[in-house]
Amino acid sequence: MRKEAKYYRKLEDNKVECQLCPHNCVLAPGKKGICRVRVNREGSLIADSYGETISLTSDPIEKKPLYHFYPGKEILSAGPNGCNLRCPWCQNWTISQVESSTSYISPEQMVKFAREYNSIGVSYTYTEPLVWYEYLLDTAKLVKDAGMVNVLVTNGYINEAPLQELLPFVDAMNVDVKSMDDDFYKKYCKAKLAPVLRTVEIAKGEGCHVEVTNLVISDLNDSEEQIQKLVDWVAGIDDRMPVHFSRYFPQYKMNNPPTPQNTLEGAYELAKKKLKHVYLGNIHLPGRDDSYCPNCGNVLVARRGYTVSLTGLKRGRCNECGSETDFVLGNAVGER
Ligand code: SF4
Repeated sequence: MRKEAKYYRKLEDNKVECQLCPHNCVLAPGKKGICRVRVNREGSLIADSYGETISLTSDPIEKKPLYHFYPGKEILSAGPNGCNLRCPWCQNWTISQVESSTSYISPEQMVKFAREYNSIGVSYTYTEPLVWYEYLLDTAKLVKDAGMVNVLVTNGYINEAPLQELLPFVDAMNVDVKSMDDDFYKKYCKAKLAPVLRTVEIAKGEGCHVEVTNLVISDLNDSEEQIQKLVDWVAGIDDRMPVHFSRYFPQYKMNNPPTPQNTLEGAYELAKKKLKHVYLGNIHLPGRDDSYCPNCGNVLVARRGYTVSLTGLKRGRCNECGSETDFVLGNAVGER
């Protein structure tokens, strides 16, 4: 399905400039952008991937990962075929970096499916949902109208104006901050760091629930200095913003060995000195994916894989010390 794109301008000789993400691709007629899904067709920018869905399934919200937003709930999850970054370690490269077959799902059908799945809403995920922008906007509005929530799992690589238009419809985001080094973003992702950080800062400022993921890659971004930079930046925004350090495994074009367990444990310990909510993902280490009360240390939410128990919460407060906690609960599973 095709739809004229938002956020572009027409140039001489039937060229167009896409203004959705910081690549600002200038495209001659017939050419596709870096994301491979926005095309110059006879002097107009067309979103070729409108509603074209690579995958549709119901996931635990913890899989996004979001640990402080409706814990224990299921969310309908969908994504497009494409991405505006080029990370050589991409875990989903078969659907993000190469052309794959898709099925069209209209915004109305997506809402219907979310209801049928008894989902809290829709998560736009798996690849890079921001390159699905027009569909995202149309669907997110209908999802909100239906009383459900919208979740973005994203690399955060978007220009400010389209982000601002989208944010009122987004309830929660997990943003993948791959490194705190601009040269790293340039070398490996073919992108820039600053717009990613700006997306997190703006989303937080607008009241969106935000969690950050950092894939810790052995010998690439795993130094104490890199981890400390990330921690300091998060602490400067909000020390209660959850951070997930995720373990890397060799994938796609990257052959570095899997991130050692002690590197992840080191990142966890370093981050816990400044941040209230730190988690380790893609590895099971007891206690490292539980949520603790920042005041008294009580276990508020215990996790074993995707089994979630809200054992330490009572009406959103710690059941030991009575402190307020940092969860968006809705009618989360198991709250007392
Ligand atoms: S969204 Fe796609 S076409 Fe538009 S600027 Fe970004 S990579 Fe280029």
